Amino acid sequence: MDELRYQIDLLNAMNQKLSRNEKAYRAILDTSSNAFLYYSFEDDRLEVIGNWSFFFDFSIKEVKDVTQILECVEEKYVLPLREIAYLEKTGIEFAIQEAMLTESKKWIEFEVTVNYNELKQPLEKILCVRDITKFKMQNDELAYMAYYDILTGLYNRNYFVRVLGEWLRKAEATKDVVAVMFIDIDDFRKINDSLGIIAGDEVVQLFGQQLKEFESDKVIVSHFNSDLYCIAIYAPYGNRSVEFIYNSICDNLRKPIRLIGQEEMNLSVSVGVAEYPEAAGTALELINCAEIVMFRAKNQGKGTIQYFDAKILNEFLENVTIENKLKDAVYNENFSLYFQPQFETSTKTLRGVEALIRWKDDKGSFISPSVFIPIAERNGAIVPIGNWVVEESLKAYAAWRNKYNYPLVMSINISAIQYKRPDFVANLMRLLEEYDIQPSQVELEITESVLIDDFARIIDKMRVLRNYGLRVSLDDFGTGFSSLSYLKNLPIDTLKIDKSFIDTVVCDNSTKVITESIILMAKKLNFETVAEGVETEEQYEYLKQIKCDTIQGYLFGKPSSFEEIEQLLEKVE
Ligand code: C2E
Ligand code: CA
Ligand code: CA
Repeated sequence: MDELRYQIDLLNAMNQKLSRNEKAYRAILDTSSNAFLYYSFEDDRLEVIGNWSFFFDFSIKEVKDVTQILECVEEKYVLPLREIAYLEKTGIEFAIQEAMLTESKKWIEFEVTVNYNELKQPLEKILCVRDITKFKMQNDELAYMAYYDILTGLYNRNYFVRVLGEWLRKAEATKDVVAVMFIDIDDFRKINDSLGIIAGDEVVQLFGQQLKEFESDKVIVSHFNSDLYCIAIYAPYGNRSVEFIYNSICDNLRKPIRLIGQEEMNLSVSVGVAEYPEAAGTALELINCAEIVMFRAKNQGKGTIQYFDAKILNEFLENVTIENKLKDAVYNENFSLYFQPQFETSTKTLRGVEALIRWKDDKGSFISPSVFIPIAERNGAIVPIGNWVVEESLKAYAAWRNKYNYPLVMSINISAIQYKRPDFVANLMRLLEEYDIQPSQVELEITESVLIDDFARIIDKMRVLRNYGLRVSLDDFGTGFSSLSYLKNLPIDTLKIDKSFIDTVVCDNSTKVITESIILMAKKLNFETVAEGVETEEQYEYLKQIKCDTIQGYLFGKPSSFEEIEQLLEKVE
């Protein structure tokens, strides 16, 4: 009897515990944001637990109601969902599938678990519905960022490279051409500097929108960064040929653009084009080739298109090699200075020397300053190189002065970048003091290109230099603006007439006329005139006749070493 009572008490206690547990589980499930369907195959019992109404506005009472779920998801998820909703038919225990609800646009995840007995007969099935909208959104955002450029909404570089790679593989099989257009907005830095980066961003966006027009299943447009864009065209012809797209871009740009709160402005672009398979075989190489020829377009005066050509690539590669060597050369000060004498035309007496830099690379081959100075200007190496030239020429000058006391003028070529540095004047003055040199014995040669950027500021600086007593000379005159009218506003002492005039001055009548009027005008303005590149006796005679003050050229003196100039000074003393 006692035994029986004990058994009953035990059962009651266990039941109580079970129902307490069940209560707890239910409470947890009901407050969970998920919804569950429990189905028992044994007694055909179906139960809905949890947050069902959050997902669906119908209730499920019997197994056949489950098909209603399939009616409220987007079409493409119906089949995969059906498969996992009746998972027991496959004998699989667990499966998961996501879907989007058509009405609410919620993203849901279905998780189905089926428990089987030893005979592989299904016992129970649990279907869990979860809200994954937030997670999906984050994923979409990441996916968006992975493919698109935020500023323009165009594809980004990574995606572009991927698609281009796929296109090239396809083109290899179909023997098609794939063209890449590399596009760069001209003078974008100026826009950014003068109007601010917000205006710059607006320009990038507006132009990006214009490019988007060309997008199709065979044309992909991307924004790389800053003002760089790239377009790839699969099998370019007809209205997706490079010419067509380029002309349309130019047509669009003919209409000025207006930025918020700014004046109207006109844009132009430089475009480089490279095609598979002619230029390169891989996506990155093709983009590189297009970029390289774009630089050529830029150098040719902007607003132009340049097609790939192996010569341009080779020149570029050579420049890259020079650029790399140049870094070492600057570090090791692998340069030397030559000096080309200048003579007074009427008396042939020595007037001064022009310092000209020389560079022999490690293998002893000579690289012309006309080649490496422009590279040094682009990569900034011109600053240390220029400083070196200034100091070395002043040192040479001081040594000659101490030894010979001859009133030489030391002409030093100054690059625009050097000239624009805020510390340029102060450094120069410090060196003049250090070597105890009269500023009037030093002449700075600058080219017209210096004047292009910021005329007023450049002129002010010239005045400062001249107030200190330094001489300023305008180099290569006739190759830039070639305008005589702006000369009168220039605070300069000397005008160097470019060699290209001297070359033809004795045989070409129009050159004669121009050279004579340059000299006449210069005389009126009180400038000294120097003729560069005088190679023949006839040229000399003619220049003497038209009263050019000074001549410089191979005829009377090639660029010479420090010691050779000493020998010259020895003689004139
Ligand atoms: P540039 O300032 O016009 O220098 C004159 C160039 O013409 C020199 O070439 C000189 O050697 C050459 N030349 C002089 N007379 C004759 C002649 O009768 N016939 C011929 N065919 N050529 C003649 P170089 O030394 O090769 O310099 C080339 C350019 O490199 C210079 O042109 C100048 O723009 C630049 N450069 C040279 N040294 C420096 C430097 O120290 N600093 C900077 N910033 N540029 C330099
Ligand atoms: Ca010069
Ligand atoms: Ca010159």
